Amino acid sequence: MSCLFCKIVTGEIPSTAAYEDASSYAFADIHPQAPVHLLIVPRKHIPSLDATDESHRSLLGHLLWVAAQIARDKGLGKGYRVVVNTGEDGGQTVDHLHLHLLGGRSLTWPPG
Ligand code: 5GP
Ligand code: ZN
Repeated sequence: MSCLFCKIVTGEIPSTAAYEDASSYAFADIHPQAPVHLLIVPRKHIPSLDATDESHRSLLGHLLWVAAQIARDKGLGKGYRVVVNTGEDGGQTVDHLHLHLLGGRSLTWPPG
C-alpha cells in the first residue's frame, strides 16, 4: 500500500498524534493553516468521502464525533472549522479520507 496516510496510521511515516482509537487516528498537519490544524483519518483506507457507502455511515459519524472531542480538548470553544476536501474540484491532494480540524484563529469565509 503506497498511501501516505496509511503509512502514517501504521507509524511507517512519523507524525505527531493528537488522538487515537480503534477506528481512527488524528495527527498534526505538516503545513498548518491555523494554530490548531489536525487531520482525522479512518485507520482503514477509504479513498475519499465520494468513495463511501451505506457501510461507512457509523464510521463517518464517529470521525465527526472525534473532531468535536478534540476541539473541546484543545479549548476551541470560540469556534473552529471541519473540512473534508473531496476530489479534484474539492482540492483533495491525499487520497485517503481525512477531516481537517482548523481552529485557534478567526477563519474567513468563503474559501477560495
Ligand atoms: P487535502 O489537500 O487532501 O485536503 O489535505 C492533505 C493535507 O495533508 C494537507 O493539509 C497537507 O499539508 C497534509 N500532509 C501532506 N503530507 C503530509 C505528511 O507527510 N504529514 C502530515 N502530517 N501531513 C501531511
Ligand atoms: Zn490510505
